[in-house]
Amino acid sequence: MSLLVASANAAEPVPKSPFRVCIDPGHPSENNDGRELLNGVREVEINWAVAQILRRLLEQRGYEVVLTKSSLGEYVTNKQRAEIANKSGADLMLRLHADSEGPGGFTIYYPRKQGEAKGVKGPSPAVVEASARAAKPFHAALAAQLRQQLRDNGIKGDEQTFIGGKQGALTGSIHSEVPALLVEMANLAKQEDAKWIRDTANQEILARALLAGVAAVADATSQ
Ligand SMILES: [Zn+2]
Repeated sequence: MSLLVASANAAEPVPKSPFRVCIDPGHPSENNDGRELLNGVREVEINWAVAQILRRLLEQRGYEVVLTKSSLGEYVTNKQRAEIANKSGADLMLRLHADSEGPGGFTIYYPRKQGEAKGVKGPSPAVVEASARAAKPFHAALAAQLRQQLRDNGIKGDEQTFIGGKQGALTGSIHSEVPALLVEMANLAKQEDAKWIRDTANQEILARALLAGVAAVADATSQ
């Protein structure tokens, strides 16, 4: 009996160190400072506010958290954001944005294919695959909590964004060596969305939904 137990223990995987998340609150960057006032909100402020709540929630649950910015107004290029995630050895880079184009609601973007920016090609096929694998459970968990609040636009390849359309992938994806997801949390050009996300109670709801998404990726990764 004891031998059986011993061999079962030996077969168990070595416990993984805490799941590490690199939260990237979008803007200001080389593309946009995120400071345009849209229906009473500025994207850079929303991204930062939600990132702060999410960081607290993740740390309370034992996740390791790295941020790509140390203050709301800090300028960090999208290449640098990816490099911070890479250097931290993050299990997931989670990029937070709130756009002002297209339909209202939230959308999950991931690098579906390799792109090219300033002569650099990326991400690697392994990162493309890992990002695609992360997108599904992340979206399912997030949507389960948010669907009553905001429209669900599903999962899309990031070549469907403005910059991604020109490069084949977003700059942050091209330089990423870790699985990367970008969440457009709401569309600030839509009055309803802007009103919803301006409310700090709703920012908490949003951060909890993002936490559920991260937890789902961590579970899927540990299997
Ligand atoms: Zn943005």
